[in-house]
Amino acid sequence: MRQVAIYGKGGIGKSTTTQNLTAGLAELNKNIMVVGCDPKADSTRLLLGGLAQKSVLDTLREEGEDVDLNSILRRGYANIRCVESGGPEPGVGCAGRGIITSINMLEQLGAYTDELDYVFYDVLGDVVCGGFAMPIREGKAQEIYIVASGEMMALYAANNITKGIKKYASSGGVRLGGIICNSRKVDNELELLQAFAKELGSQLIHFVPRSPSVTKAEINKKTVIDYDPTSEQADEYRTLAKNIDNNDMFVIPKPMTQDRLEHILLEYGLSD
Ligand code: ADP
Ligand code: MG
Repeated sequence: MRQVAIYGKGGIGKSTTTQNLTAGLAELNKNIMVVGCDPKADSTRLLLGGLAQKSVLDTLREEGEDVDLNSILRRGYANIRCVESGGPEPGVGCAGRGIITSINMLEQLGAYTDELDYVFYDVLGDVVCGGFAMPIREGKAQEIYIVASGEMMALYAANNITKGIKKYASSGGVRLGGIICNSRKVDNELELLQAFAKELGSQLIHFVPRSPSVTKAEINKKTVIDYDPTSEQADEYRTLAKNIDNNDMFVIPKPMTQDRLEHILLEYGLSD
């Protein structure tokens, strides 16, 4: 079983990318569970056809400790198992706690069965700290991908995330598997992201173009692979899925200084 965490700045496209790529892996006959680790609890919406998934924390609040696995885990597209950790009421408590509670609950209830090929954690946040580090801190996820784009703030966040990964990688087995570019159509974005990944000692695992078909599928509460399987964008997600499935480059990342990041941005991002 490969346990994979997807990190990246808020709004960068983690949930969209995770759901589309797991749909691609499902086409390769992989058995998958997706665990949403974001208080927004929208990590599995496209796999569940918009079906409101009751989060683990909501279920605990409403039903008490005696929780049934079926009340927190739903089967979605291609039988993918979907879980949402959820979060505390806004402004109350640590949002990361939901992740810890959820993973413990899933373990207790026997959700991690042998037939699973992949577990994906879709984790909110610009920094890997507290509860949000849980999937990697506790050695649940051994493999991390960071979603980024050519925009400065996305790269800044991605670099910060590698600092957290490095910390946990030194003491545990977690490794960076690569950077996923979710394009924002920035100039020279491909070259910029390749250079960025290389500087970290990692790789650009795939460049996912920005496409209106993503939005169209999203309005219809589906992944692109489900809604428009013959589209070019569906093939992009299939390629990403294959690249991850075949990946053999797992590294302890080398975070860069702010100066170095700015240098790379100047060199690639702003040159035209
Ligand atoms: P995150 O989970 O990182 O907060 P989301 O996956 O919710 O981000 O994506 C934010 C928005 O960006 C969504 O409305 C989504 O439809 C859009 N989006 C993500 N990836 C793409 C893409 N490749 N092309 C077009 N729109 C995209
Ligand atoms: Mg999300």
